[in-house]
Amino acid sequence: MATVIFLLIVAAGFALFLYQTFWRDKLIRRRPFSPAWRGILEKNVPVYQQLEASERVRLEQLIQLFLAEKEFYGCDGLDLTDEIRITIAGQACLLLLGRGWQIYPGLMSVLVYPTAFIAEREVRDEDGTVSYAGHQLLGESWSNGKVILSWDDVTRGGRDFHDGHNVVLHEFAHQLDGLSGATNGAPPLGGSNHDTWAQVFSDNYDDLRARSARGLPTVLDSYGSTNPAEFFAVATEAFYERPSALERVRPDLYAELQRYYRVEPKRWEREYTPPPRSNSAANWPGECD
Ligand SMILES: [Zn+2]
Repeated sequence: MATVIFLLIVAAGFALFLYQTFWRDKLIRRRPFSPAWRGILEKNVPVYQQLEASERVRLEQLIQLFLAEKEFYGCDGLDLTDEIRITIAGQACLLLLGRGWQIYPGLMSVLVYPTAFIAEREVRDEDGTVSYAGHQLLGESWSNGKVILSWDDVTRGGRDFHDGHNVVLHEFAHQLDGLSGATNGAPPLGGSNHDTWAQVFSDNYDDLRARSARGLPTVLDSYGSTNPAEFFAVATEAFYERPSALERVRPDLYAELQRYYRVEPKRWEREYTPPPRSNSAANWPGECD
């Protein structure tokens, strides 16, 4: 009897999985994407217009799933609007464009503040005394299913998609990273080779730390030298927003990110002007900006 009940539970679970995968999600993806939402993407996520037609359709379907699955909350009196939801979902789903239909399975809610927000952080003195200090943040990603964002910085990052800074890409890269069970710069890699990934990321991370310590300019934001998790998030920003520069100065890192995200962001760059080459390259020839 116990075996029959167990088999029934397994069958019910499988049926639910099939329903979600093949019917519920399919129906959500087929919902009409309104012209007003397209207008929001064109204004706040202009890279949307550079996507190929098939990519735009896929992005719109990913956005539908994102909106159906995740809760948005306005903080500090911010009234949530379609503009806020579509702009955030649109940028977050760019990271999923080349991947399956799973929409950040660890994420439940997105909290949005009007501007940069203050978060309290534990500070430990040399003698071990613990105190708390407020830090101004543009975004935060939590392993308990929350992403927190500053709306001001979401719009700024989306509208300038070529400066290498994008708080939505950054925080949602942390969400992908955390799918391995730990946010440590090593997301589940699927088809990528783990040894190659580890070697390439380790080499590039060490180089960024060395360059940051010496105050040398680099295509990657020096914040990526904080730890391997921040390195992955910062490298993701550069991969999407400055792909040609990243590929030119760090082709091995670019190739790993391309294998992981399965997209070619260089196609989306408009009127790209390559940065000047540097003469000061030491052990990382070609790094220039
Ligand atoms: Zn971060």
